[in-house]
Amino acid sequence: MDVINPATGERVETYEAETVADVDDALAVASDAFDRWRNCPLREREQLLADAATELRTNDRSYAETITREMGKPISQALEEIEKCAWVCDHYAEHASTYLNPDGHPSPPGAVAKTAYEPLGPQLAVMPWNFPFWQVFRFAAPALTAGNTVLLKHASNVPGCSRAIENVFREAGYPDGTFQTLLITSDLVDEALEDDRVRGVTLTGSGPAGRAVASTAGRQLKRSVLELGGSDPFIVLDDADVEAAAETGASARMLNSGQSCIAAKRFLVHTNVYDEFLERFVDEIKSLTVGDPTDPETDVGPLATDAILEELDAQVTASLEAGARTVTGGEPLESNGAYYPPTVLVDVPDDCPAASEETFGPVAAVFEVDDESEAIRTANETEFGLGASIWTEDRRRGRRLSREIEAGCVFINQLVKSDPRVPFGGIKDSGYGRELSEAGIKEFVNRKTIWVE
Ligand code: NAP
Repeated sequence: MDVINPATGERVETYEAETVADVDDALAVASDAFDRWRNCPLREREQLLADAATELRTNDRSYAETITREMGKPISQALEEIEKCAWVCDHYAEHASTYLNPDGHPSPPGAVAKTAYEPLGPQLAVMPWNFPFWQVFRFAAPALTAGNTVLLKHASNVPGCSRAIENVFREAGYPDGTFQTLLITSDLVDEALEDDRVRGVTLTGSGPAGRAVASTAGRQLKRSVLELGGSDPFIVLDDADVEAAAETGASARMLNSGQSCIAAKRFLVHTNVYDEFLERFVDEIKSLTVGDPTDPETDVGPLATDAILEELDAQVTASLEAGARTVTGGEPLESNGAYYPPTVLVDVPDDCPAASEETFGPVAAVFEVDDESEAIRTANETEFGLGASIWTEDRRRGRRLSREIEAGCVFINQLVKSDPRVPFGGIKDSGYGRELSEAGIKEFVNRKTIWVE
């Protein structure tokens, strides 16, 4: 597995991919470790997670630099990602006992009934490169603390991040085998998932990968959680604080150089505030600093790979050919790295890629809508259902409209974000299941009814 620095196009490291025999060994270790780990008192598992948070904070720069080198995230954002991982560890270190406390039920006469939450066994995590630490921690922190062991198959372009995450758990003092990485290509995922020792799978990534893994899990009757793509609407109504919407909208689209599942991808702006919003939004976008991701002043770095750049360029070109116009950006930058400039498209036809597909890069499509019902109809005109953001000064109106949005979350006057305290996940082609909060730690447990007569 070659690691190519996307800022320079240079190969920085090569890792040897692991084989079927390596996977078999790792599964044996994970299975043995599970027999001990499940009996480790929950208090000790919580303490180890708190120690993982300490390790992340102590060596945050080194972990952040690995992210930046492998997938080009601006260093300031990579440091924020590490802090967010420490936060999710703190969260479950503090709340796991409450979340996993056995629930009592109205007792049948002469008996006591409870639900206990027990771990299922080794879990396979198939993860993407875009938030290469966060995506792993938001699954692993609760799954490990619930008493499962974890096997990570990370994206092939971030093997160093994968090893570094394993190092976090080792340094924190986790017993051998509780968290292991598998440096395997995606064609070995099925075989690992079909093995009886693997008791469930979570995948964060694209629709095709999600469907492939879900089919295998289904055939094996194994639990699965899928966190897939999105094309989130960002609705600006006629009574919105337009200045705040434009400022937050630019961050919502450009964070992580636009490579986020929950990025605002389609801006649906009421006709009464359209001109003002567009002007302010474009000013915000133009003020972003594009460049070297190791520079703390950089807002937008390179895309993670040349292939992503080529796909984004093809989507924008096809949208322009279909009639869309660029207000800013619109072509790859001259560079050895995979740089694409922050881009704003208007007059975007309904059926072109910028309107109907997920764009995974710094490209915003802005649409003018006549009223709130057109905003809601357009918002829902997508196969995805991950998140949505609505801007209105009338919070009751925002709450009312939130019920009409087909998505896993709706944020009023805020960008869509993941937060350890609230459930995260999608509907429709954005997947199923939930991560984070109490919902996340209860995905990979056996809800065991215990009835005592
Ligand atoms: P991807 O190609 O689906 O890769 C994600 C992971 O799945 C990688 O580890 C990849 O391994 C593996 N994989 C790919 N095809 C597979 C298959 N047929 N069977 C088993 N595993 C397979 O996704 P990506 O392009 O890297 O990531 C971007 C996508 O992820 C976007 O659609 C984005 O919206 C979505 N995403 C969703 C969330 C969320 O929370 N909902 C968060 C972040 C990203 P290899 O690298 O070895 O191919």
